[in-house]
Amino acid sequence: MILLQNLRVPLAHEMQTLLNLACRRLQIEPLAVKELRVLKKSVDARDKAEIHFVFHLLVGLEDEAAEEPLARQAGMELHAPPKMPALPEAPRGRLRPVVVGAGPAGLLAALILAKAGARPLLIERGRPVERRQADVADFFASGRLDPSSNVLFGEGGAGTFSDGKLTTGIKSPYIPFILDEFVKAGAPEEILYAAKPHIGTDFLPKMLKGLRERILALGGEIRFGTKLTGLVQGAGRLRALRAEGENGQEELPCEALLLCIGHSARDTFAMLAESGLRMEQKAFSIGLRIEHPQALIDRAQYGEFAGHPALGAAEYKLSCHLPNGRSVYSFCMCPGGRVLAASSEEGLLNINGMSAFARDGENANSALLCSVEPGDFGGEGPLAGIEFQRQFEKKAFELGGGRFRAPAQRMEDFLAGRASRALGALRPSFAPGVTPADLRACLPGFAAESIRQALPQFARRVRGFTDHESVLMGVETRSSSPLRIPRDKNSLQGSILGLYPCGEGAGYAGGILSAAADGARCAIALLEAGQAPPLRGD
Ligand SMILES: Cc1cc2nc3c(=O)[nH]c(=O)nc-3n(C[C@H](O)[C@H](O)[C@H](O)COP(=O)(O)OP(=O)(O)OC[C@H]3O[C@@H](n4cnc5c(N)ncnc54)[C@H](O)[C@@H]3O)c2cc1C
Repeated sequence: MILLQNLRVPLAHEMQTLLNLACRRLQIEPLAVKELRVLKKSVDARDKAEIHFVFHLLVGLEDEAAEEPLARQAGMELHAPPKMPALPEAPRGRLRPVVVGAGPAGLLAALILAKAGARPLLIERGRPVERRQADVADFFASGRLDPSSNVLFGEGGAGTFSDGKLTTGIKSPYIPFILDEFVKAGAPEEILYAAKPHIGTDFLPKMLKGLRERILALGGEIRFGTKLTGLVQGAGRLRALRAEGENGQEELPCEALLLCIGHSARDTFAMLAESGLRMEQKAFSIGLRIEHPQALIDRAQYGEFAGHPALGAAEYKLSCHLPNGRSVYSFCMCPGGRVLAASSEEGLLNINGMSAFARDGENANSALLCSVEPGDFGGEGPLAGIEFQRQFEKKAFELGGGRFRAPAQRMEDFLAGRASRALGALRPSFAPGVTPADLRACLPGFAAESIRQALPQFARRVRGFTDHESVLMGVETRSSSPLRIPRDKNSLQGSILGLYPCGEGAGYAGGILSAAADGARCAIALLEAGQAPPLRGD
């Protein structure tokens, strides 16, 4: 197919408009076109007086043989679809690999292993997504936390109750394959071509069930409610793992384990440290979440085009470096979304955001985060970052008044450095509810001050950003993992042979797509190792 790039199209257009433009560019008749496909669609809103879409299109001709000479003549290229790297065959005569954690990393790893015929066992401490949805709904309504089934733990991992944004800065050969699998499993087809794709929390459960069925159909096994609790080692490598589930404690022989436990499995990190797995402190970020009326963000980004049905809810992405050496940036913006408690431990509050695919809620929210370095942790050892997070999550929980209500503050009060006694016209979307407070009490001093300094800079880029009615909530601590599990750069194994640290919790991903890509990468490394000479200790 011929690749046509950068076609500027008005907001109100039809497929016929694209066809006419493509034909004009190629100087052919519409009847010569067999297929027209959108490869990429983005919004160009740099000039607010003339917002338009930009398309990359693929054109297939009735006469396929004419594509190459026509493309050459028009100075264009033929499209070379990306190819998934070949899957190594599953090694014979080995124990089946075990994947721990059914987040994006673990699910993609299990899918790849199953496709290669390795019959993986996937264990997940939380529940299947249908049961998990009910547990989370109960938590939002009552503030009663189930420590094994919540916004962070259960099928789909941390991103299940999210905006399902799939933007990533990484380049990975597995991404087209992953997106394709997501769509086959039930994600909206738009993720294949949107410049900033998102799935939405309403489509995610359907997609997760689809992925589950595919892994099972390919010979994998999934055990929910089953937690990794220990490692058994011998001669410098992994021999078995201990797990706790419905059948009580059990020991499972295991020589290859993909550890995809996310950034919040604090008890598991402690067990791994005791088992002697090498881990190290890692920088992350801490901050607040801001909520504005979505209409204010639409106006700031789209001017007169705000509310245009073809545009949907507007987004923003902001960052600045401050004279004090800290960075402050917006993170995980959820247009038309809501703010939620994303906690996994009783008495500790961490917040985040999510949106439905339509992004049609009243408010826009985003984290405003400040960088945190290991030097800020005030402790030694790989788990010091976790203790640092816990300290501020506890303060936020207490400030909110318990039952996972979030402390909240009007923008005007935060900038003036005084506690809020009441909130204004904006209705915070936070479940299970908010309590007016002074958010400086749940942040390290440097983070509160850095965010305060950054806000006027952000208001220069997004008009109305510091509008008096906007509301800040706290505290957001789990932007990424506070530790890293080092792995060999070729074999991808950690300091215990046979163990593959993988995904966000191990420090190799940040977000759904990069975690899924790391899962795929580690699964392939594991398959390749099976074909190589036996590991040391065999
Ligand atoms: C509310 C929210 C919104 C988000 N929104 C987005 C977004 O829009 N876009 C985006 O790219 N990213 C988003 N993220 C981040 C994204 O979800 C993560 O980056 C991603 O899920 C990390 O994938 P992972 O597989 O490495 O780990 P996780 O998704 O954290 O999965 C780890 C899994 O391991 C399980 N587990 C942990 N310990 C054990 C154990 N001992 N035994 C068995 N199982 C265990 C957990 O229960 C969990 O299911 C969001 C996160 C949250 C919390």
